Amino acid sequence: MSTLKEKTIVITGAAMGLGLAAAKEAASQGAHLALVDLNEAALQEAKAAIVESFPEIELITIIADVSDEAAVKNYVGETINAFGRIDGFYNNAGIEGGQTKLIDYDTELFKKVIDINLLGIHYGLRYVIPVMQKQGYGRIVNVSSVAGLLGAVDRTAYVATKHAVAGLTKVAAIEYAKDGVVTNAIAPGFIYTPMVEEAFLIMNPDNPKAAEIEASQKNPAKRLGQPEEVAKVVAFLLSEDCSYVNGQIIAIDGGQASAY
Ligand code: NAD
Repeated sequence: MSTLKEKTIVITGAAMGLGLAAAKEAASQGAHLALVDLNEAALQEAKAAIVESFPEIELITIIADVSDEAAVKNYVGETINAFGRIDGFYNNAGIEGGQTKLIDYDTELFKKVIDINLLGIHYGLRYVIPVMQKQGYGRIVNVSSVAGLLGAVDRTAYVATKHAVAGLTKVAAIEYAKDGVVTNAIAPGFIYTPMVEEAFLIMNPDNPKAAEIEASQKNPAKRLGQPEEVAKVVAFLLSEDCSYVNGQIIAIDGGQASAY
């Protein structure tokens, strides 16, 4: 099986959660990393942890808000300046956008979720794909969700944008496969990250642990996923071995999206 050794991988939302776990997995395989996030303090902490564990890899950090097109263009440019190429792109940054019934969902918040979860992914594709086309090689993983495959109550904008990410993934996959650019998405279920901790707090402010237990019990595996379990799949999708899996939305959810 091929690894990510010497591959240049760009990861957005890299400071914590799924992005950080993927960064650690890629670093363990010897990748060079461009880590992007808007939370500067958390990104520096993430960098320190990775450098301590994997001192041999090359790593840059870039502060950027993925909903700002100029900032996205800039993180792609900075990565090219540092490494000269982009082999893998983990288009991961996203937000939940609170939990409210559809008819009460605040329109400004809806627009913000679209800006980050949908346009942020689109801008990333828009600026990274031309780099990969020139190379004749690239691997892209967009982050959708089980909420990109199924509805979820109280998460109007999140569900809408995660379904849209699945759509973007299919378009990128069919337009650029001929150029050696392979694009897939992942659809994680509840994975234990800061975002999900926050979600449980919103679901049950007095007893977030009860919300966590309820989510675990609804899952066929009777537990939440761990970020490392997602990172292993992402590492494969970013590797040379992922050569003919293209345009897929891959659930990483303990079987949740298969249950009736
Ligand atoms: P998280 O909140 O734990 O981490 C997200 C990271 O993205 C943070 O470091 C944050 O600073 C960064 N970020 C947020 N907005 C940004 C922006 N505009 N520009 C740049 N960086 C930004 O979240 P997570 O659970 O690791 O989620 C990562 C992705 O996975 C998201 O797209 C999320 O929707 C998706 N997802 C997560 C789960 C889950 O259960 N954790 C399930 C399905 C999908």
